Amino acid sequence: MTLEPDIVIVGAGAAGIGAARRLASGGLTSLVLEALPRAGGRAWTRNAADVPLDLGCGWLHSADRNPWTRIAEEAGFEVKSGETAWGTQFRDLGFSRVERDAARLSFARWSERTATTPPASDNAADALEPGEPWKPYLQALSGFISGDELERISAKDYGAYDAASTDCNWRVPAGYGTLITASLPAPAALRLSTPVEAISLDERRVALNTSAGTVRASAVIVTVSTNVLAGNGTAWPSALDPWRDAAARLPLGSNEKLFLQIVGDSPFVAETHVLGDLHDALTGSYYIRPFGWQVIECFFGGAGARAVAGHGAAAGFERAIDQLANLFGSAIRRNLKPLVASDWAGTASIRGAYSHALPGEADARLALARPFDGRLFFAGEATHTTDFSTAHGAFQSGVRAAEEAIAALVPAQ
Ligand SMILES: Cc1cc2nc3c(=O)[nH]c(=O)nc-3n(C[C@H](O)[C@H](O)[C@H](O)COP(=O)(O)OP(=O)(O)OC[C@H]3O[C@@H](n4cnc5c(N)ncnc54)[C@H](O)[C@@H]3O)c2cc1C
Repeated sequence: MTLEPDIVIVGAGAAGIGAARRLASGGLTSLVLEALPRAGGRAWTRNAADVPLDLGCGWLHSADRNPWTRIAEEAGFEVKSGETAWGTQFRDLGFSRVERDAARLSFARWSERTATTPPASDNAADALEPGEPWKPYLQALSGFISGDELERISAKDYGAYDAASTDCNWRVPAGYGTLITASLPAPAALRLSTPVEAISLDERRVALNTSAGTVRASAVIVTVSTNVLAGNGTAWPSALDPWRDAAARLPLGSNEKLFLQIVGDSPFVAETHVLGDLHDALTGSYYIRPFGWQVIECFFGGAGARAVAGHGAAAGFERAIDQLANLFGSAIRRNLKPLVASDWAGTASIRGAYSHALPGEADARLALARPFDGRLFFAGEATHTTDFSTAHGAFQSGVRAAEEAIAALVPAQ
């Protein structure tokens, strides 16, 4: 590879694509190096049973101010607005409305306490009421939202996301992953299946070693996940140790999605939802027939997702079918067929779901986002101080890093 672009972007996820778009609009050339044989990173739409299924991001969170909403509309993608079925329980199956209201009230109170009277320890578990009867439910929600147990979550970090969220969640029927990968600008060169193995710095430039050769550039935008940056898969210059230390304080939690195909006559109603078990911290959350499709999206978080990753997809499907059979009756077993499952924990160039700050470590996001020496710039969802863990936060971080790089490379007139 002999390309000598103005700027190299490591990673073709939402952040890398956001950076490439901003560089292109500033007239700079970029080369995007991506380890996987596809673009999108944690934005990945796979076609199965003739429908586009998002194994990673699926919801345009804070959709009314989400830049992907505008990009989708400008590019002619349909965007579905309206309420989501989360938080509802189809026909009150398994749990009475009174029980569910009590559980939801406990979550609302915990959330309120993290905002108004945050614990001095900054440990989100310390915002629980003593003897909290709904702790397993709150742990399950913490798993869905943050990918980890409350004991490992910074209350300040959680509160910053919650305060900034507009609670407006829309979807792109063609797939969020489809939208994001279609948004790489034409002027950016993309090299798939090209992991950066080592980064080194000489006096002026940055060298990136790949199996296809060494690329040199004036500046590099690094968008890899925190678990990748903190890990040992790439040789980073020792000068980046403080950035790697910040990344280790913002680990990725665990979240996995499994899709079941519905076959034959079934009781499943379009756009409905059930939680598998209100009293189980490892429970799955089941979105039934999104867009009317004959599929169920099974979502696991935290300990539930670690169990899926640890025991394998077959065991995960079995668990999902067991939970659904408990609610709908065992006759539905014949209606459900395993279709496709994610393995974010096992994907070497990602290694988890989305970042959360450990207690006391919310400021690590700013430390991670700092540029190094006017040559290395950092983007990725984890560098956003409020919209972390999302595809739009990733996009905005890419734009921010690109602007920093442009300011460093293009002298002010
Ligand atoms: C199950 C799940 C559900 C989610 N749901 C939502 C949702 O509904 N809404 C939402 O907004 N967000 C959601 N997210 C989060 C969202 O997907 C991510 O925050 C976002 O996609 C991250 O983008 P990124 O560019 O920061 O990182 P990534 O997408 O991880 O991109 C980084 C890229 O760098 C590549 N890379 C790593 N190392 C190297 C290397 N050495 N050389 C070259 N390339 C390398 C990786 O392969 C990857 O493609 C979800 C995530 C998961 C896992």
